[in-house]
Amino acid sequence: MSFEKLGLIKPLLGAIKELGYEHPTLIQKRAIPLVLAKSDIFATAQTGTGKTAAFALPILQKLRNTTADENRAIRAVILSPTRELSIQIHEDVKNYSKHMSITSAILVGGKDIEAQQRMLKTGIDIVIGTPGRFMELMDKGLDIKNIEFFVVDEADRMLDMGFSKEIRRIHLQLPKRHQTLLFSATYSDKVRKLSK
Ligand code: AMP
Repeated sequence: MSFEKLGLIKPLLGAIKELGYEHPTLIQKRAIPLVLAKSDIFATAQTGTGKTAAFALPILQKLRNTTADENRAIRAVILSPTRELSIQIHEDVKNYSKHMSITSAILVGGKDIEAQQRMLKTGIDIVIGTPGRFMELMDKGLDIKNIEFFVVDEADRMLDMGFSKEIRRIHLQLPKRHQTLLFSATYSDKVRKLSK
């Protein structure tokens, strides 16, 4: 099985080739076609299995027709439990999108929220961050009406850290038509309940 067979477009194939990826991992083989076919997904995958590319590559493909309008609203949000993981996901997203004009940014607590608000006005397609800071920005009027993708990474860890209320509140406010991609290292009752 090759990345070409998964139906990925040239700018993405070029980027992953430059990163030295030769074959998709199991989670990539399973998740990429489903996301491209507009399904929601709930996957159990540990760190190290290639799960970031499993959600980031098809999202980038779906968002490829972005405009250059600086007033455009964000189209995908990726929630992760920690600042470190958010930074890692952002690095991966930047690497995968290097031959595209899609923009991404990181939103974590402990940084000046007004600076983040200004940065969001420069035309950002994908944001990656922790639930608390994303909710704060939403409460301050962040435009979420164009969100097409909602990714919850390491859901089990986020629930253990007490982010359940934030995740549910964010989800409730998203536009009706969006795809949800939920990733968790374990398949616990708490995660199953959240997925429902
Ligand atoms: P992740 O599980 O997303 O944290 O990925 C773990 C590591 O595997 C990262 O360093 C990725 O760059 C790398 N990786 C992801 N997909 C592939 C692939 N298909 N082939 C080789 N390495 C990969």
